[in-house]
Amino acid sequence: MRTKIVAGNWKMNKTFEEADDLINNIIDLLKSENLSDKAVIICPPAVFLELATDQSFDSEIYVGAQNVSRFESGAYTGEISASMLSSMGVDFCIIGHSERRKYFLETHEELAGKVDQVLKQNISPVFCCGETLPERESGKHFEIVRKQIEDSLFHLKEGDFEHVIIAYEPVWAIGTGVNATSQQAQEMHHYIRSLVREKYGDQMAENISILYGGSCNSKNAHELFANPDVDGGLIGGASLDAEEFIRIVQSF
Ligand code: PEP
Repeated sequence: MRTKIVAGNWKMNKTFEEADDLINNIIDLLKSENLSDKAVIICPPAVFLELATDQSFDSEIYVGAQNVSRFESGAYTGEISASMLSSMGVDFCIIGHSERRKYFLETHEELAGKVDQVLKQNISPVFCCGETLPERESGKHFEIVRKQIEDSLFHLKEGDFEHVIIAYEPVWAIGTGVNATSQQAQEMHHYIRSLVREKYGDQMAENISILYGGSCNSKNAHELFANPDVDGGLIGGASLDAEEFIRIVQSF
């Protein structure tokens, strides 16, 4: 059975004290939850990763980064390498978020490089894909998502691909308050799983966790997560409040 995952993407939010409080509150609230078949991941800004891995030691949460360098090490001012993340106890890394594609012009090829870097350090990529509104309206959404996945993930060997998590995040749903309908999410997740099946076979397709992201909150999570191909969520805004985030974790 594949793992159900709720991952919080804090984006560029919170001060040190606020991050400290949020991590502690999430850990406290999770103590009374049964998480046997679920994984809860928090992805704070890079400067708070050490705080998060320290606090989460011996707790039920995993820590993920929001970005990583596609280079291994050296003269790349401002960059953070996968080995640095790994040395801090980071287990997951968001790669290919639409905000990074849009504002930092990250290409499929660069994203493939980032995926390779994290896998070398035993960090699982949470690879984001998804179409813009014009792309959906012109009926190109399947083609766009297929290209994103093929170009950045399908060079991987089976032994590496089995560590990948995919997050379908329609760009028009991110931070807009307009989530994909349950039917739209299921249709795309089913399609993504079929791509994985074609390339890597049945077992890989059955085992891969495919998360939904885009204005997911405690009001819509239950319906979205009830779909057979939706294995959890990548949560932005709603992950910044501990109680709301836990309600989403309880939505399975
Ligand atoms: C995200 O940024 O990954 C995201 C899903 O954001 P939000 O939940 O705020 O739409």
